Parts: sequence; C-alpha cells; structure tokens
Amino acid sequence: MSQNVFQFIDVQRVDPPKKPLKIRKIEFVEIYESFNQSQVQMQADRCLDCGNPYCEWKCPVHNYIPNWLKLANEGRILEAVELSHQTNSLPEVCGRVCPQDRLCEGACTLSDRFGAVTIGNIEKYITDKAFEMGWKPDLSKVVKNGKRVAIIGAGPAGLACADVLVRSGATPVVFDRNPEIGGLLTFGIPSFKLEKEVMQRRREIFTEMGVEFRLGVEVGKDVQFSDLVTEFDAVFLGVGTYTYMKGGFDNETAPGVYDALPYLIANANRLLGFEKSPSDYIDFAGKQVVVLGGGDTAMDCVRTAIRQGASRVICAYRRDEENMPGSKREVQNAREEGVEFMFNLQPVGVELNADGQACGIKVVSTELGAPDANGRRSPVVIAGSEQVLAADAVVMAFGFQPSPSPWMAQHGIGLDSRGRIQAPEQAEFAFQTSNPKVFAGGDAVRGSDLVVTAIYEGRKAAEGILDYLKV
Ligand code: FAD
Ligand code: SF4
Repeated sequence: MSQNVFQFIDVQRVDPPKKPLKIRKIEFVEIYESFNQSQVQMQADRCLDCGNPYCEWKCPVHNYIPNWLKLANEGRILEAVELSHQTNSLPEVCGRVCPQDRLCEGACTLSDRFGAVTIGNIEKYITDKAFEMGWKPDLSKVVKNGKRVAIIGAGPAGLACADVLVRSGATPVVFDRNPEIGGLLTFGIPSFKLEKEVMQRRREIFTEMGVEFRLGVEVGKDVQFSDLVTEFDAVFLGVGTYTYMKGGFDNETAPGVYDALPYLIANANRLLGFEKSPSDYIDFAGKQVVVLGGGDTAMDCVRTAIRQGASRVICAYRRDEENMPGSKREVQNAREEGVEFMFNLQPVGVELNADGQACGIKVVSTELGAPDANGRRSPVVIAGSEQVLAADAVVMAFGFQPSPSPWMAQHGIGLDSRGRIQAPEQAEFAFQTSNPKVFAGGDAVRGSDLVVTAIYEGRKAAEGILDYLKV
C-alpha cells in the first residue's frame, strides 16, 4: 500500500465509466466499463486497512476485503483471486450485482465523508482478470472421499454448495430444470447487470473441477426425489422462490397484465437462444408500459422495457423514493435511461378497452402513515385521489414467495407458515432440514433475498453436509 496515509483524500473515489446512453438504451450488455489495472491500483490504495474492518463484517460471506484490496494494489492478482475464493464461490457475480451501497461499501469507514472504496468493481476486476490470465481453481491435492451429494437447483445457493463440496473431496451432482446454470442469475437478472457469458464460463470451470450438471431435469417430474434420497449420501435443496405475489386488484389477470419474472425470463430465453416459440417472447416495443413495484425486480423490468423500445416507461410505487427497497444505484441508472418514476401511487384496478385488453391502470395517491411491524411506514390512501395512467402493458413486480413441492412434505421436510423450508443454521449440522439426510439454503429457506446470502447459505450447508457425512 502507498506510504501516503491520506491517499483517500488525494485520490477520490471513482467508479468505472458507464457506456454511452445511446448504446445502453438499446443493447443488453453490462453498462459499466471495466477498470484498468492502474485504476484498480489507485482505488485499492485508498483503503485504510482498518484494524477492525467494517466492510468485512457487513459482507454476508465475510470476504477478506482489505487483504485482497492490498494484493490488487500490488498487482498480485492470482493471490487476490485465491483469497477471494476462500470465502466466496462467485466473486465475479457479487462484484457485479451485490448492493454494495447497503453492504461492504455502505459500511466502509470512508463512506460518509470521503467516498467508500470501490470494493465491488475491484472484486469484479480481480476475478475477470485472473480468468483472462488463465487462472483456474487448483484441486490437484484434493483427495476424493467417495461421498455423492445431489443438489437440486443450480442457482447461487446450489452452486456455492457444490463448490465447497467438490473442494472437500465429495462429488456433487447438480440437477436443474433450466437448460443453463445460474438460476435467477441467468434467467432473472438481466444482461445489462450480469452478462450471460459470466455464468457459462463458471459452468465450464465447475465442470472441470468435477461438478456434474444434469440440466433440463426437473426433480419431481423427470426424476423422483425419493430416488435421489436413496441413491445419494445427502441432498441439498436450493430451489428458490417462484410464486409471484399478486396485487389483489381488479382485472389483474387481463391480457396485457404481466408478472415480472415470466417477462424477464422470456427476454433471457430469447438472448440465450432457449426460446421454444416466438410467441413466448413478451415484446414491449412501441408500448406504454407501467411497472408496479419499487424493488430490484421492478428496476430490471423498466430497464428491459426501455431496451425493447417501449415508447414510455413509468415505474409507479406506493411509498416515496426514500422508502424504495431497490438499490439506489439501479434507480439512478433507470432514470438516466429514461424511466419516469411516480411515487405514492397505489394500484386499485386495471382499466380495460372494448376488447378486454389492458389500456390503463387506475391508481390512488398515498401518504406515509405509522410504521408497520417491520418499522416501515405504511402507505395510507388519500380519499378522492383516483387517476388513470394510460398503459398498453402493466407489469406486476411485487416479489416472490416459496413454491414448496409436494415431495417435500412426503419426505418429512418441515416448512414454516410461509412455505419456507425450515433449515436452521444453528441445527446440529448447519442448514439440516427435519429430514436428516436433506439440507437446504438460499431463497427457499430465507425467502427472496440476495445472491450473496444464497451463496453464504449454500457454503455453510456444504459444511453441515460434510460434518453429517463425517468426512
Ligand atoms: P435461484 O437463483 O432461484 O435458483 C433456484 C434454482 O432451482 C433455479 O435454477 C430453478 O430452476 C431450480 N429448481 C427449482 N425447483 C426445481 C426442481 N424441482 N427441479 C430442478 N430444478 C429446480 N440479488 C442480488 O443480490 N442482486 C441483484 O441485483 C438481484 N437482482 C434480482 C433481479 C430479479 C429479477 C430477481 C427475481 C432477483 C434478484 N436478486 C438479486 C435476488 C437473487 O437473484 C436471489 O436471491 C438468488 O438468485 C437466490 O438464489 P437461490 O440459489 O436460492 O435460488
Ligand atoms: Fe478499507 Fe473501507 Fe474496509 Fe476500512 S472499511 S478496510 S477503508 S474498505
């Protein structure tokens, strides 16, 4: 690190430049350029190497952030990438999609007055650069222990579990109904945040490490869960949450009203060449689109609509901007790309034209009332404030709930009242369910959350499985 302890004052925080707007608005490519080596060294050098690093504590996987910042600053990329993989199975993904402003960077000692260290972009640089240099995880010293673990779900939870298991000598076999790995990383999060090649590269790396993928295979349909329980020494469930929450308002199932995830999946399938029929694609070109909701999924929908060539895109949210759950960075990106935000509006019904097709959304204005049980102020409707926003397409982005399969109960896997799989971290073996042979983690256990928390639980569950198998 530099001899100048005031480097963080002399060198300001800089983010990598964004691609020009005219490209961003039409192309499904990541919007941020990559840092170059000298930018990485300058930015990493701003780190104070705090004795008690808040960034590291706040990071759900407790990445050794100041240590790999130091290595990046010294140009020791291969050592940095080895270190980052000690705590994280997909650092190049986290570098791209973690809400760093709420996690490591939000906790950085420098964040309030001087601008946090650009941790996320350096994390992305380290991993991408290492791959470019030909780096691969070295498993040559791993001794196989003969244990085989079935993993259901190739999302971040399942992949992280497979990563830790294979590095410990077990053989993970990952089943997913999708034709590519990644779960929501591939089929939910759009390419302008995470290009599809990132997961394809990871599939090749995991395969070389000894992880077996059985893709296009749905457990419960193409293979039976009971057969997996019999055939394998343990099973991990990383099946995510796929029940779309509805608004409960009039005409929400009318033609022209869409759930967010099928819309995003249809777009991903087209980009990946997995589209079964052209009629599966949901095209908003030339349409007036209103997206309801204020989270990251809503931001992904509005920005996808812009790239499809929608004539007008509005995001309507029932609280104010301050109380939006979505990442501030993504709201800013959406605004730059031409999305209009309308706050304190609650939908009450979809307006239909003579053909029964959505032609608008009726909303009422709200003001924020008393805090609810989670401490968030609830929107209260203002009487007589109805208005209609014209819309050819309405997208509901209200979040997701678990979708437990019947085979879970049949195999004694306990669920809570909201349908989440019960698999406590504090169980005798971490993330073990009420069926001792079955473990679980990620969104299916905690409810819709983040990539990095799914990675954490997948890794910890793998440790639980190894303890259970006594290897
Ligand atoms: P998933 O990623 O959902 O993976 C579950 C996998 O299980 C899927 O591939 C599914 O096909 C498979 N599966 C399920 N049942 C079966 C079965 N019976 N047989 C075979 N396979 C099965 N988080 C962030 O940190 N940053 C973001 O920017 C961000 N953006 C998001 C944008 C959108 C649109 C959405 C929907 C979520 C976003 N998230 C984001 C949240 C994040 O993607 C999830 O928290 C994370 O992917 C959960 O990982 P998981 O492995 O638990 O589940
Ligand atoms: Fe460096 Fe900020 Fe972490 Fe301190 S909190 S070690 S300054 S990145």
